[in-house]
Amino acid sequence: MGDTCGVPQSVIAIAAHPDDIEILCAGAMALYARAGAEVWLCTLTAGEGGVNDRAPDEIARIRRAESESSAALIGARYACLGLPDGGVLNGDPDMRSRVVDIIRQARPDVVFTHDPDDYHPDHRATSAMVLDACFTAVISNTRTGYPATGSLPAVFYMDTLAGTGFQPEQYVDITAVWTTKRDMLACHVSQLEWMQRQESLDFLEFTETMGQFRGIQCGVRYAEGYRIAHAWQRDTTRRLLP
Ligand SMILES: [Zn+2]
Repeated sequence: MGDTCGVPQSVIAIAAHPDDIEILCAGAMALYARAGAEVWLCTLTAGEGGVNDRAPDEIARIRRAESESSAALIGARYACLGLPDGGVLNGDPDMRSRVVDIIRQARPDVVFTHDPDDYHPDHRATSAMVLDACFTAVISNTRTGYPATGSLPAVFYMDTLAGTGFQPEQYVDITAVWTTKRDMLACHVSQLEWMQRQESLDFLEFTETMGQFRGIQCGVRYAEGYRIAHAWQRDTTRRLLP
């Protein structure tokens, strides 16, 4: 853990697809970055399944670049692990070892990932894989490209899409960084345009509404909601969220 002010030295958000992080936890990431933490944004896939009117390679390249632009807005590092969009499997040893490696590289004090019951199969698989990979990351006899981490990080589950079935346990007031979160999401032009074309859905408006809804619940203008993964050696008495 970091300095005496309680700011973590390193945090990582690991989501399934480009734009998930921006919709669900970019406010907290922006606040961590402001406080001086090293912030990593990682997507397991390049989101090539998210836009269906272009070739997979082309859309993957575009969406990686959009995620890079978003991360740059808060000085975060971005990593895409290149797993197949729509094919994230927690039981796959190669996929698991790539997630272990990014955790070993970032050496996070705090990890963010999807809720275990979110709507998308990739989100649910990512949630389980990240929780499990944090455990594997400390086991030095499990060899990957980077040395084992020293201790288990706290794992926070992000809100579900539209908040369905998700009751936050802790809130983060993101009012001060709301425009940063919105600008990060706005980097995902290809997805925003596709959702508008395909579903007549404005994801910027959707995300603002969710921020306001979670804000109303905790008495601020904009908020994000989180739950901590409860297990032995993972619970803590410390407030780790910004
Ligand atoms: Zn997603």
